[in-house]
Amino acid sequence: MANGARGVQGEYGKTTAGKAVFLDRDGVINVEKGYVHRIEEFELLPDVPEAIRLLNEAGFLVVVVTNQSGVARGYYTLETVRSLHRHLDTILEAHGARIDAYYICPHHPEHGIGELKVTCACRKPLPGMLEQAAGELAINLPESYMIGDKPTDTAAALAAGCRPLFLLTCFGSPGVEPPKGVPVFSDLLAAVRAILAAEKRR
Ligand SMILES: [Mg+2]
Ligand SMILES: [Zn+2]
Repeated sequence: MANGARGVQGEYGKTTAGKAVFLDRDGVINVEKGYVHRIEEFELLPDVPEAIRLLNEAGFLVVVVTNQSGVARGYYTLETVRSLHRHLDTILEAHGARIDAYYICPHHPEHGIGELKVTCACRKPLPGMLEQAAGELAINLPESYMIGDKPTDTAAALAAGCRPLFLLTCFGSPGVEPPKGVPVFSDLLAAVRAILAAEKRR
C-alpha cells in the first residue's frame, strides 16, 4: 500500500543512481515489542540514527517496509502508524539522518477486519512493498539491500531481487534461525558498515 515518498523529490538527483537500503522497522530500527504503536513504547535500538545517517551520506535511499497487521486487526489505525513515523523522523532529524519513504502493509489474510482482511501482494514475505517503492522511486533492486530480522524479510528481499542482510536483534522471536547463506549482524550499524565496505570494493 502506498504511503508516499517523503523528502525524495528534488533530492533524488543527489543520490547514487537508484540504490536503496530497505529497512524492516520493528527489531531493526526500534525494539520489537509486538504491535508497537505508542510513542511511549517506541524505543530506538542502539546507533540507529548514525547508521541511517551513514546511508544518507553514501547516497542510498532509505526506505522502511513494515508489516503492520495491528492495523488489520483493529488494534490501531494507519494514522497512528504514520504519526509514530513522524515521531521517528523528528528523532532522526536531530541526528542529521532521514528516512526517505515508508511503505506499510496494513493487511492480514485471516485476522484482518473488513476490507483489511485480504491476501495482498504487499505483506512480507511477498515483495510488493519493495516493488512498489522501486517503481515509485526509480530504485534499481539488484543494486539494493534489505535489512531485516525475520526470515520473512529475507524472503521479500530475495523475491524482489535485492540483497538480504539479517540482524539477530529480534527481541520478539528469540531463537530465530538466520536464513542460510545470508550475512548476519548484531545491529543495524554493523550491517550498514558492511554494505558501505562492500560498495567501496566495487
Ligand atoms: Mg522485524
Ligand atoms: Zn498488504
